[in-house]
Amino acid sequence: MNFAREDLACYSYDAAAVGPLPDVVAFPHTAVQVMQLVRYANRAGIPVVPRGAGTGCCGGALSAHGGILLSFENMNQVLSIDTELGVGMAQPGVTTEKFQMAAERKGLFYPPDPSSARICTLGGNVGHGAGGLRGLRYGTTKDYLVGLEAVMADGHLLRTGFFSSSESYDTTGLLVGSEGTLAIVTKMALRLLPMPEDATTALFIFPHAQQIVRAAQRVLGLGMLPVALEYMDQKALECIRAHGAVNLPAQNGYVLLVEFCGRRRQVEEEASQMSQLAKEEGAVVYDRAIHPEERDKMWALRRALSPSMAHAAEIKISQDVCVPTGAIGSLLEHVDAIARRRNLLIISFGHLGDGNIHVNIMTSGRPAEKRRAQAAVEDLLRVVLSLKGTLSGEHGIGRTKASYLAWELSAQTLVAHRKVKAAFDPRGFLNPGNIFSSS
Ligand SMILES: Cc1cc2nc3c(=O)[nH]c(=O)nc-3n(C[C@H](O)[C@H](O)[C@H](O)COP(=O)(O)OP(=O)(O)OC[C@H]3O[C@@H](n4cnc5c(N)ncnc54)[C@H](O)[C@@H]3O)c2cc1C
Repeated sequence: MNFAREDLACYSYDAAAVGPLPDVVAFPHTAVQVMQLVRYANRAGIPVVPRGAGTGCCGGALSAHGGILLSFENMNQVLSIDTELGVGMAQPGVTTEKFQMAAERKGLFYPPDPSSARICTLGGNVGHGAGGLRGLRYGTTKDYLVGLEAVMADGHLLRTGFFSSSESYDTTGLLVGSEGTLAIVTKMALRLLPMPEDATTALFIFPHAQQIVRAAQRVLGLGMLPVALEYMDQKALECIRAHGAVNLPAQNGYVLLVEFCGRRRQVEEEASQMSQLAKEEGAVVYDRAIHPEERDKMWALRRALSPSMAHAAEIKISQDVCVPTGAIGSLLEHVDAIARRRNLLIISFGHLGDGNIHVNIMTSGRPAEKRRAQAAVEDLLRVVLSLKGTLSGEHGIGRTKASYLAWELSAQTLVAHRKVKAAFDPRGFLNPGNIFSSS
C-alpha cells in the first residue's frame, strides 16, 4: 500500500508535539494481524508505535524513529457488557465515550472520564493510565482495568487478569501507563459500577485562587468526596470568554466546578453544605444544576477551555504536574511568580481533589519568548519536585518529558525501569525514544 505524504502527516502529531512521518501506517483488524506485524518488525528491527486517537499530551504516539505506526481505528468494537459480572470487554480503538455509553445502555457506569473522552481511545487510556474529572471519587483507568490481552515484542499473545487463569506478578498493572513501550494491547476487560441514583453540578466563581483552595480543602476535610472538583484560573475564564461559544456568568474570577453523585438525599445535603461553605470562603457566583442537560451545559464551560486556549497563543506547553493536595495553594502562588518573572501568559486549571494541575505556558514562536517558556517549564518542574509532587499526574512522560525523568527518579529506579523495558522488549523496537530519551 502506498501512502501519500499528506496521509502520513495525519499520524505525525499528537496534542503536544509534531514528529517526523512514519514510514507506513498499519490498520489491523485482529490481534493475529498485530502478532504477525510485530513478529515481522522484530525480525527486521523496524520500530513499531501503537497509536489510539493521538490526543496524548506528551508526544508518545509519534513515530519519532520512522517505522510502522499501528493505528487501532479498525479495532473499535465494544465486545460485550456483562451486567451479571459487571465487566465490559472492548478493543483498543473504542473511544472512552462509546464505551461509557454502551455501559450506560445496560444501566452500568464506567467512571474514568478524561475530558477528551469523546475522541480518545481505551487503548490510549491504558497506554497513559488516563485519569480525568472523576478521579477523586472513582480513581483512574488503572482502577478499572481487570485484564488485558497484549501482543508481546516476540509476537506472542499475553493474557492477564480476567483473561488468564492465574497470575503472580500484577502484569495488568505494569502495562497501565507503559505508553506503548512494553507490549501492544489488543483487548481489555474493564470493571463497571452500578449507575449512581442522582447527581448535581455546582459552579462557583471566587475573586481569588486561594479561596478556592481553602474551600476544596474544607470539603475534603469534612469527609465529603465529590465526583469532581475542577479548578480554572481567571485567565482560563477570560480565554473562554474571548474564544469559546458558551454562555458565561458576567463576573470574572476563578472557577470551581463541583459534582456530587450518589443517593438523592445525600447529594442534596452535600451540595447545600458545599454552597454554604463556598459563600463563607467568598464565592461571588453560585449556580446549581440537577437536570442532565443543565449539568451538561455547565460542563460545556470546562470543555470549551482547551479549544479556546488554542486561540490564545501560537504554542501551548502543557504540563500536567501533580502535587499533594495540601501543596496546591503553594503551587499556584509559584506559578503566578513564574509567569511574572518570565513575563509569560500561564493558564492553569485541573483536578483539585487529586492535586493534578494542568499548567499551560503560552508562547509565540519567537525565539526569545520560546527560550523564556522553556525556562518557565524548568522553573515549574523544580517547584513541583520541591513540593513532593510528580512531573506527570496523568498525561504520561512520552517524548516531551523524557529528558526530565532523571530529575524525579533516582539513578537506581531508572536502571530498574530500563531493566523492565529490556525484559519485555530486548531489541527496543516498541515505541523507541518514548519515556527513556536515549533508548
Ligand atoms: C482536550 C484534551 C483533554 C484531555 N483531558 C485529559 C484528562 O482529563 N485526563 C487525562 O488523563 N488525559 C487527558 N488528555 C490526554 C489524552 O486524551 C489521554 O492521555 C488519552 O488517554 C490518550 O488517548 P489516545 O487514544 O489519544 O492515545 P494516543 O495519544 O494515541 O496514545 C497515547 C499513548 O498510548 C500508547 N498506546 C495507544 N494505543 C495503545 C495500545 N493499543 N497498546 C499499547 N499502547 C498504546 C501510545 O503509544 C502512546 O504512548 C486530554 C487531551 C486533550 C487533547
